[in-house]
Amino acid sequence: MTGQTNLAYQLEQYLPQQLEQLIRDIGTQALALGQSLYLVGGVVRDLLLACPSFDIDLVVEGDAVTLAQQVTEISSAKAILHRRFGTAKLSQGDFVIDLASARNETYAKAGALPTVAPGTIKDDIFRRDFSINAMAISLAPSNYGELIDPCKGKEDLEHRLIRILHPRSFTDDATRILRAIRYEQRLGFELEAQTAQLLTRDIAMLDTISGDRIRHELELILKEKCPEHVLNRLSRLGVLKRIDLPLKTNQWMTEKFGKARQLNRSGQTVPLYFCLLAYSLSQKRNEQFLRRLNMPRKLAQALRDTLDLRAHLHLLDKPLMKRSEIYYLLEHYDPLAIQASAIASESSTTYRHLSLFLDELRYVKAHLSGEDLTKLGIPPGPEVGEILRKLLKARLDGQTKTRDDEQKLALSVKTMKARTGESEY
Ligand code: ATP
Repeated sequence: MTGQTNLAYQLEQYLPQQLEQLIRDIGTQALALGQSLYLVGGVVRDLLLACPSFDIDLVVEGDAVTLAQQVTEISSAKAILHRRFGTAKLSQGDFVIDLASARNETYAKAGALPTVAPGTIKDDIFRRDFSINAMAISLAPSNYGELIDPCKGKEDLEHRLIRILHPRSFTDDATRILRAIRYEQRLGFELEAQTAQLLTRDIAMLDTISGDRIRHELELILKEKCPEHVLNRLSRLGVLKRIDLPLKTNQWMTEKFGKARQLNRSGQTVPLYFCLLAYSLSQKRNEQFLRRLNMPRKLAQALRDTLDLRAHLHLLDKPLMKRSEIYYLLEHYDPLAIQASAIASESSTTYRHLSLFLDELRYVKAHLSGEDLTKLGIPPGPEVGEILRKLLKARLDGQTKTRDDEQKLALSVKTMKARTGESEY
């Protein structure tokens, strides 16, 4: 056919050889089963942009589970099968491939999950979010590499446009509002005119989306290279307010997110960004946000800790503090909250104290254990805990260094207690 684009060359050039061979083999195997196989989604877009990802999604017109089983029989690939969803995960060495059956989706109600039925590759393309994500590449041996592009995604890529596939797209699934802005900012594209108009009109449809799904899309945003650009744009559009995240200052966020990437100690950038988002909220607003996102318990606690610590941060802004004083102020806070406060703090003294705790103090332990104290003749009971705490304090403040020092201190406390008959030290 004239004008047909073939991407066989790009597949060979950009995908690792072993991965490309594997998807060719799966294509051949699909043919043996009388099925057609396609590469779909983001990887097609990225191949056309010449910046390929190896996040491989395949769609088969037929049963993905049967095909996956067949592939494991003729190759060294392993499969995890999800019969109920008609999907499978294939892995070989470091490569992982998601395999799904082509499907047709209809939305009975805005925001509800779609009703799914088996379909053709065209159906599977038309259920997608944007034209640039709605292309497929044939992996059948006879027309390997042929681009299937009924929604003109390639043209939109060339014109740098994000375009929905039909006017009900955002009402069917308002998570696409968050997705549209994520791609817009990541790729430096523009929203196509009607898409922009419908996106603004349908912002209220975000109310139909569950907290878990909103949170998932926010996490995807926070995994972007510069999430603050996406968030700032969403804030200007009024989207963040709609999901109970009314952020105050955009410049502040840009600066602090940049600092978070520079200083991140734990490698947990996404939860750290969440804590920084909470930092500019009131407690009441934070609770609303946590409820709206159905935030998991541990992360919700980190966000609450962030706000609680923000209210006590002035206590750390004193130049001459004992190390134990810093320790006792911070010991019960989630480390993420402490990290977020260090990034958010405008005082170099406070920053120094928070960093000291994160880098050093939180790891300090007394040399002696409760068992060691029992061996020294201190009977099991609350007294052991009290002495251990005293040992830790002494170690933090440099009054003891060795096991010997701690044994002497423990025994002197014991003697003093025996003399005075007091239970508190
Ligand atoms: P990236 O991982 O680079 O952000 P991707 O395109 O791989 O991009 P995924 O979130 O992994 O993004 O989704 C895979 C594909 O599934 C998308 O390319 C899109 O075609 C489709 N998709 C994902 N979410 C939706 C949605 N809410 N509505 C319609 N299609 C969607």
